[in-house]
Amino acid sequence: MISLLSFALAGSVSAWSQTTSDANVNDPSSLGVEDLSKPNGKEPPMLGIHWVRGFNPHPRAAANFFSWGRSPLMTYHNGKIMGTAVTANIFWGPSWSASSGDKITGLDTWYQGFSNSNYSKTSDEYTGTNGQVGATTRYSGHVIDTSAASSGNSTSPILAEVCKAITPDPSGNGYYSVYTDLPRGRANYCAWHSYGTCSGKPVQFAFFWKLDGDAGCDPQSTVSGESQGLAALANVSGHELSEARTDPASPGAWYDSSGQENGDKCAWTFNVPSVTFSNGSQWKIQGEWSNAAYTAGTGYRNSSGQKGCLDGR
Ligand SMILES: [Zn+2]
Repeated sequence: MISLLSFALAGSVSAWSQTTSDANVNDPSSLGVEDLSKPNGKEPPMLGIHWVRGFNPHPRAAANFFSWGRSPLMTYHNGKIMGTAVTANIFWGPSWSASSGDKITGLDTWYQGFSNSNYSKTSDEYTGTNGQVGATTRYSGHVIDTSAASSGNSTSPILAEVCKAITPDPSGNGYYSVYTDLPRGRANYCAWHSYGTCSGKPVQFAFFWKLDGDAGCDPQSTVSGESQGLAALANVSGHELSEARTDPASPGAWYDSSGQENGDKCAWTFNVPSVTFSNGSQWKIQGEWSNAAYTAGTGYRNSSGQKGCLDGR
């Protein structure tokens, strides 16, 4: 299957980040390739793709003549939000058994400390058909599957792994992070989230490459006592979980006119060197977009200069 992503990685990053007069460059259908970020009836769509540093898949969104005057606010698309989330981590791939370093235990700490953190509260203003995003999440632990992992270039194998590795939380609020031992290679994204069902039970899930030594997905954390690979996963984990909570499923809840979710809109921007979670753990982690903060002028600037990001410190 040819995806948008495999197309994009076949070209150079600079070709995509340049302003171009090709009106169709942001419309994958015009290129004859499949865009996995949209429902195709065969696979769950990729949402909230966390692109590598410096890669902008919407290069014309801010500068396009037709977007002048368009609001940077996210709008509501009539779907559910996650009032809470029951999270679990799946470490997939043969190398996790021997060379996990501090990543498995560190991510245990991350998810435990996320609940009731000021960082989790950066998503609390958003509501859906089923209520409002709340500050509390519950981490139910990790699973290690040492069978060979699939790449993140399609969603179906990742959903299949979730359904194999865990029993979905009966509440339907399950969010499962699949951390593979595969390096990113030439793919131009660090992670994504999606949704599906396991035996009829709704699940949210996310995919992560191994980010050790990966400059394109590295927040360059100066927090002591954690490996670079752990710090990189912590940052992208905040991006994906925040997006799943505010835009978890079809028909979708909160995203802007370019399809960007709250993590996307503040990706690769850091207002403070580190954020302290509710269990005292510290992480260098991107902020999340707040419509309220943008409107009030109290947020920090994202990469487009819009003051709508909350650092969650
Ligand atoms: Zn995203």
